[in-house]
Amino acid sequence: MNILNEKKGIICDMDGVLYHGGKLLEGVKDFVDWLYNENKNFVFLTNSSWNTPKEFQQRLQRMGIDVDEKHFYTAALATASFIKSQNEHASAYVIGEHGLLNALYDSGITISDIEPDYVIVGESESYGYENIIKAVKHVNNGAKLIGTCSDLTAPYEGGLLPACRSLIAPIEYATRKSAYFIGKPNPLMMRTALRMLGVHSNDTAIIGDRMDTDIIAGIETGLDTVLVLSGVTKKEDIDCFPYAPKIIIDGVGDIPKLALLGDN
Ligand SMILES: [Mg+2]
Repeated sequence: MNILNEKKGIICDMDGVLYHGGKLLEGVKDFVDWLYNENKNFVFLTNSSWNTPKEFQQRLQRMGIDVDEKHFYTAALATASFIKSQNEHASAYVIGEHGLLNALYDSGITISDIEPDYVIVGESESYGYENIIKAVKHVNNGAKLIGTCSDLTAPYEGGLLPACRSLIAPIEYATRKSAYFIGKPNPLMMRTALRMLGVHSNDTAIIGDRMDTDIIAGIETGLDTVLVLSGVTKKEDIDCFPYAPKIIIDGVGDIPKLALLGDN
C-alpha cells in the first residue's frame, strides 16, 4: 500500500468505487480527505457520457462529498476532444444525452443530420429505431462511426443496463462497419487524464472496480493498478483474466487506513 503514498497522481473510477447508484460507498469521505490532505493530483474518470462534469460534481455534493468540477473527466469529454483533434470543423449525428451533446458543442463540433462527418453513439434515453435508421444511412454514406465507450453493460441498483457497445451493435451489423471506441480502456482517455494531472505515468496509480476497463487501461498505460471489490469485479473473477492488479482492496476507504499503518 506504500506505493499509493508515494504516487503524485491518482486516476479514480467513479461508479462502483465512490458510489453505487445513488448510494455513497463506505469510507469515500475519508478517501477524498486523504487525497486533499496528501496533496494528490487526482481525477475522477468515468465512461459515462450521460452527464456533464458539473452534474457529477453536484451528485457527489448531494452525497456529502465536495470536489471541484475540474477533477471530473468523462468519456463524453474524451470523445469531443478526439473528434476535435481529428477534424476541427467536424459535424456529427449524435445519439446521446446532454453530457455528450454539451461536450461536443463546447468543442465546436456541429450537431447535424445532414451529411455528418461522424455518427457518435453514447447511452441515451432517446435511442430508438428511427435514429438507428438515420445512423445507418449516415455511416453508409461515409460518416465515421464512434462509440463513447466499449462497455457492454452498466450496473444500476436493479441489475445491468445495456451500455454503449450493446447500443451501437445494430448499426455495426447493418453497415458492416466497426465502431471506434473512445472511453476506457482506450489509452487515449488515460493519456488525456495524465495530461490533466500533469504527472508522469510512473508517478500515477489508477483505482477502479473493473478488470476489463480500469485495470487493463492502467496496465496498458503503464500505471500501477488498484482493484476495489466494491463494484463489478468480484474476488473469484480476478483469476479469469490474463493480467492482475498490483493491489486488491475491499474499497477506497481502506486506502487512508492502510496509508496510516504504512507510515508507522
Ligand atoms: Mg466502475
